[in-house]
Amino acid sequence: MNETVVRPDPRVSIVIPVFNEEVVLPLLLPRVRAVMDALPGGAEVWFVDDGSRDATAQVIEQAHRADARIKLVQFSRNFGHPAAITAGLDCAQGDAVILMDADLQDPPELIPEMVALYRRGFDVVQARRSSREKESLFKRVTAWAFYRIMGALTNHEIEANVGEFRLMSRAVVEALGQLRERHRLVRGLVSWVGFSHTTVDFVRPGRAAGETKYPPLKMLRLSADGLTSFSTAPLRIASLLGLCGLLGGLAYAAYAVYVRYWLGRAVPGWTSLVIINVFFSSIVLVCLGFVGEYVGRIFEEVKRRPLYLIRRKVDGAPAASDAESGRAPERR
Ligand code: UDP
Ligand code: MG
Repeated sequence: MNETVVRPDPRVSIVIPVFNEEVVLPLLLPRVRAVMDALPGGAEVWFVDDGSRDATAQVIEQAHRADARIKLVQFSRNFGHPAAITAGLDCAQGDAVILMDADLQDPPELIPEMVALYRRGFDVVQARRSSREKESLFKRVTAWAFYRIMGALTNHEIEANVGEFRLMSRAVVEALGQLRERHRLVRGLVSWVGFSHTTVDFVRPGRAAGETKYPPLKMLRLSADGLTSFSTAPLRIASLLGLCGLLGGLAYAAYAVYVRYWLGRAVPGWTSLVIINVFFSSIVLVCLGFVGEYVGRIFEEVKRRPLYLIRRKVDGAPAASDAESGRAPERR
């Protein structure tokens, strides 16, 4: 055995959010089970059914009857991928927790390598896509732009080409569990909590079956959440724009006064009035928009609603309570 190993074999929890994934599950389940069989510390997999309208939950339940390591949390409706991840982390019992997508774009076969790095002492093992060939040009361009803007505007390094596929130690999962903000970019939160990070590279294949559950608009919303929850720079940009407008406006006013009193020419002035009007109204509107984004999020946050609602849990344990909610578990 390697002398750099500092931790015993962990019990591994795999967390997989699923939203209308019935076609991909029959491909995913055998591969996940094979990987779990090969983990000496034992393993469980939590599927979080994010309000699917197809047979996703039934497929998982059936798999649970054959293999009790396969567990299901079912939401009362679609709460979105970040909420599903949070629920999975709340349920997971393992010493090391692995987050992955259901569509086999995150190959489960990478898990043993991540666990090996965990055993060498790393608390977060991120899987980095060494190529995104199989993804659409649109996705690649928008991802590139997003990471550039995030990098420029926030203080927290978010590594490009890293998705949600990662291993986290119990300590990191507990830390994340304390962050209950609504608009969550999980990879940003992981970067925020700190701990020791490392990466493994993999070639990201295309989706194994079914269609993407992240249409462009949803992707845009996620990016906006990421930006606004980690940076107030847009607010500062708003005041900067306002200041530039003010300086420009003052200069122009001085010029107008000069023309009127020194040169004695009264300018008809209609054009300039219109231009000034349009210019300043748009600056004001843009700034209002920025402020509105934050005010809206403050509003969402102060309501303190649970992040998700559980309709049902299938984990082999005796039924505890019928309704559970995504509030932070009690901690002492
Ligand atoms: N997903 C989810 N809730 C949603 C949207 C997506 O739980 O509202 C899950 C989906 O089932 C998948 C993962 O999030 O396991 C990533 O989605 P997808 O592969 O469609 O995204 P893409 O890879 O196209 O960005
Ligand atoms: Mg995918």
